[in-house]
Amino acid sequence: MKRKTLKRRVELEGFGIHTGKLSYLIMHPAINDGGAIIFRKGKETIKAHIDNVVDVRFATVLGINGQSIRTVEHLLSALYGIGITDAIIEIKGEEVPALDGSAKSFVDAIEEVGTESLDYPAKIIKVTKYFKVTGEKGSFIEVFPSETTEIECIISYDHPYLKKQEKRFTFSEDVYKKEIAPARTYCFYEEIAHLLKSGLGRGGNNRIVVVIGKDGIINKPPRFEDEPVRHKILDLIGDIALSGYRFIGKIKAYKSGHALHNKFLKEFLKSDAYTII
Ligand code: ZN
Repeated sequence: MKRKTLKRRVELEGFGIHTGKLSYLIMHPAINDGGAIIFRKGKETIKAHIDNVVDVRFATVLGINGQSIRTVEHLLSALYGIGITDAIIEIKGEEVPALDGSAKSFVDAIEEVGTESLDYPAKIIKVTKYFKVTGEKGSFIEVFPSETTEIECIISYDHPYLKKQEKRFTFSEDVYKKEIAPARTYCFYEEIAHLLKSGLGRGGNNRIVVVIGKDGIINKPPRFEDEPVRHKILDLIGDIALSGYRFIGKIKAYKSGHALHNKFLKEFLKSDAYTII
């Protein structure tokens, strides 16, 4: 697989899902040293890399020298999903715009200008051994050697509607675009007041967030019946992309979230369960 960038620059603006504040994003074509997605905010340059993650409580936040960029995961998922390995993302604002709440708006905007193959091989991390990390409340992520990129996510909540959803996805750009990228963020109706009180979710609304009530999805129709678990796969791809590599192997994630994705990636990179090709 070759590295890839955008053909031309892409400009986007919108409200951050947590801050509710307007921000501007300009994605530039680039050839970055070794292949990388690099954010620029003010004078700071922040590489999209696990070492620069500064918060994972409700979204993945990158930061350096007191400057941070919130909620990078949907954009990083979109870039990974369509094979973009090199870009410079200039941001004016605190948070990546939520746009439609999924990765689809990013994918569509990039596809409109097109992508360009670079004459460098992409860096690949390949699972060679079984490896597992565990998190709170029985959650875990485990990986197995495989010749493809397979993701299996299971979400499970103590909630009458969302007791369990599971989905398997074998990665390809086409399937990502159709089956994963359009899946929007979800939240539970009962949690909204608490989120808002904590200063989160201020840019959320019922077009961009799937709101789950006791009897089911409140803002019908969803884009998919199992939209929440598809969104979990979308988030996982965005968080795993912070390795800086293309990933080959099978990942199984049970009740995972940003914190566990982050913990998994850190420990996996320190392990001997992979090879770089
Ligand atoms: Zn998300």
